[in-house]
This record gives sequence, C-alpha cells and structure tokens, in this order.
Amino acid sequence: MRYFTELKTAELSSYATPFYYYDLKLLDDTLDAINDAIDGTNFKVHYAIKANANDEILSRVKAKGLGIDCVSGNEVRKAIDSGFLAKNISFAGVGKTDEEIAYGLDHDIFTFNVESLAELKVIDELAKEKQKVAGIAIRLNPNVNAKTHHYITTGLEENKFGINAWELPELFEMLPTLKKLSLKGIHFHIGSQINDLTVFKSLCNRVNDFQKQFKERGIALDHVNVGGGLGVNYTNPDEESIPDFNSFFQVFKDFLVVEPGQEVHFELGRSVVAQCGSLISKVLYIKEGIKTNFAIIDAGMTELIRPALYQSYHKIENISATSKENSKKYDVVGPICESSDCFGKAISLPETKRGDLIAIRSTGAYGEVMSSFYNLREKAKAFYSES
Ligand SMILES: *Cc1c(COP(=O)(O)O)cnc(C)c1O
Repeated sequence: MRYFTELKTAELSSYATPFYYYDLKLLDDTLDAINDAIDGTNFKVHYAIKANANDEILSRVKAKGLGIDCVSGNEVRKAIDSGFLAKNISFAGVGKTDEEIAYGLDHDIFTFNVESLAELKVIDELAKEKQKVAGIAIRLNPNVNAKTHHYITTGLEENKFGINAWELPELFEMLPTLKKLSLKGIHFHIGSQINDLTVFKSLCNRVNDFQKQFKERGIALDHVNVGGGLGVNYTNPDEESIPDFNSFFQVFKDFLVVEPGQEVHFELGRSVVAQCGSLISKVLYIKEGIKTNFAIIDAGMTELIRPALYQSYHKIENISATSKENSKKYDVVGPICESSDCFGKAISLPETKRGDLIAIRSTGAYGEVMSSFYNLREKAKAFYSES
C-alpha cells in the first residue's frame, strides 16, 4: 500500500502554503498495526502526545484505545480535555512544577513518572496537602546507549533523565517513609529514532536487573514501562509507511522477564505519527549559488525545526513536477534569517521553478508541535486526507 504518492496535487494547490498535510488513513492503519502486534499480550501502549498534539490525530489515537504519555502539565490537560481517561495518562519530566503536579493529583492520573529523589518528596507532600494518594512509577536511568543523535539520547548516566543506579539504596530507604505515594511501576525511556533493535534487547537486560532488585526487597510492581523510541524510515518513507511493530514488540516478548500478571507499558510517539504527515510548501524563488542552486520555499524552521535542531534528514519531493527528467541539485532553504534554516543540501529534484509545490516528508512527529513564531511567523494550518 502506498499512501502519499497517490495524492492529488490539484487538491493540495487549493490550500494556502505552507501547511501540514496528514494522511488519516495511514494513521489509522498504523494504529491498527500496533494493536494487532500486541493482541493477546499484557502489553499496553501510551501515545507520547509531545510528538503531535493535533486534535484530529488525538481523536484517532483515542478511538483506537491507546493511553497517553505526557511530559508537561499542559499535555496532561490536553489529554484530559481530549477525552482520554485519567487512568490511562502517565506524566514524566525532570522539572515538574508544583502547579503541574497539583493538576495531575486533582485529576487522579495513572502515574507520575518520577525522575529524582527530590521530586518524590515534593509529590508526597503535595499529595498529603490534598489528602490524595499519588500513583507513581520510578523513572530509572539504565545507562544504555540508544545509538541515535546525541540530542535525542536520554538513557545514559550523563543525561539529566531518571534516577541513577547508584541512588537505589537511598530510594529503597526513602520509599516506606513516603506514605502518600503508591508505587505502581518502574519506567525507562532511552531515546528516540532508534533503528537498531539490539538496543532494545540491551534495555530489556537492564530492566531485568532493576526488576530483580525491587523483587529482592519484596516490592511488587504492577507494570514495567519501557518507554518509546522506535525509529522510522526517513530515507524511503514509501517503502516503510508503517514501522515494523511486530519485530519491535517481539524483542520485549523474547527478552523482558515479567512477573505473573505484570503489564508492560510502551510510550510510542514518533513511530505512530511521523509517516502520516508532510509539510507542503511553495517555491518562492530559484537563486543561483556558487556550488548549487537554492530553492527558496515558503516554509522555514518555524514550521519544521528538526533539520536545524538535530541535522535530521527528511525526504524532499517536488510534487508539481510532471517529469523526473532534467534533475538538478538544489539546496532547499526557508525564508528565516538563520543559516541553519535549511531543509536539505544538494537535493536532487526535477527542474524546479517558482510556484512548484514541495513536500517535506515524514513530518508528522515533532513537526507542527515544535513550530514557533520567530520572525513573527503565523502558525501553519493543517489539512487532512481520509483515503
Ligand atoms: C519523547 C518521549 C517518548 C516518545 O519517544 P518517541 O521516540 O517519539 O517514541 C516516550 N517517553 C518519554 C518519557 C518521552 O520523553
């Protein structure tokens, strides 16, 4: 099944550029693939709302029964306002404010995924004030290298996330004194855009070690949350519109040791939504450069910051060009006053001219949601295809 390439360019020409274009059929098929892969298991998937909090997308995710993973109070609010049940909402983040914690307590969310010993005490105190019991999971830093870009690596001891192994004795001493906390599980998240599945096998081994330490102290855990991070194929999105969820979950079936009745939770973001989105932009000018020509388009780092922030690659297509002949190399750049406002260097495109539509592919995750108002830009609209 090919998705984006069946698009009608004529339909897209009727919208003002730049805009995000979401293929909701592909999103539904992706969600079905996840549900098929975990059918009959004790696995449960939370969608990481930070990847894309667009209302249409959230309503599809909700319809397919996923929970929500949040990293800010406003994300928790958005999930609740969008109709997700509090018992399916978890809340991670190294810097939760008192107000954010209070909001989560008021709504009885499933867990606060606690990232430091200091935070444990604060949640306990705030819960006491409200005469509530807070569900918590301990986020542990497994010191596993995700082998991805260093800006999206989170599971190394040098990273700010989670409680480190050497803090465990203190944690075990503290836990019985924190009367308003109900420990439900342990949590891990080692990074994003992980394409080497052996990384997840290493994670399983580390999780098993941690589980053993809790078990030895007689601490029962309802669930183990192994986070997200599964990568997508940015180079050839049409060859892999839906990530290989079967192989991903199989690693955990094979290598994670679970206790009877224990659930395994996942927090997938990118792999759920990346491929269903494209950023559509119009060519404003072609300008001759010294080495290559520039195709200056009307989308910039304000709509899609990933290339500027992480040097990430997105496939770029000229969807107006009728023939693939006369291909030339272009640096595809935006209008923003920053040299990093560049979507790709020396990209081969068919002869490209002012007014052509350009599709920047695989931008459903960490695209629209990271947009900014720099240069007083307006927020790009979103449009949807159902078939
Ligand atoms: C960002 C994040 C995720 C989702 O990561 P993806 O790579 O998009 O799957 C999951 N859990 C936590 C705690 C996160 O911060």
